[in-house]
Amino acid sequence: MKKLTADEIRASFVNCSKGVAQRLSLPDLDAQPWDDLDLLGWVDPSGSGTSYLVTERPVHGSEDDSEPIGFVLRASKGSGVKRQSMCSLCLTVHSSSDVALMTAARPGAAGRAGNSRGNYLCADLGCSLYVRGLRQPARVQPHETITREVKVMRLRSNLTEFVERLAQE
Ligand SMILES: [Zn+2]
Repeated sequence: MKKLTADEIRASFVNCSKGVAQRLSLPDLDAQPWDDLDLLGWVDPSGSGTSYLVTERPVHGSEDDSEPIGFVLRASKGSGVKRQSMCSLCLTVHSSSDVALMTAARPGAAGRAGNSRGNYLCADLGCSLYVRGLRQPARVQPHETITREVKVMRLRSNLTEFVERLAQE
């Protein structure tokens, strides 16, 4: 994705108030490997279980233009009852502590009424790095014969679907 500024990121959040978006902690934007990212994801340093996911989606009606869209996510780690260990975006297999159920409040009135949607994601939101082999998961992965390129395409396709689902009011 293309490098985003702090202002662009703060303006991209669709499921929190402007005040929350203004105050939330951003990662070091100059240190991000933007060329290798399909999404920018980070965990709030407060330890509150909040994570953030920002990606790009096509501007409605345009083929080349994209705009950033961001979500505040609440992470709950695997409780041991539900031992899902695969990220639904990048399909990386994790031990249960490295995958989290991430839920996003729905945008608008539904979200304010407490409705949310979510899925199991890499707890560190490092999906882009896992599919490119730039970060190694702790667990041995099932053998796949597909190339890195195909894995990236698969991540992007899953991400597009996920973002559209979260963005619906
Ligand atoms: Zn992932």
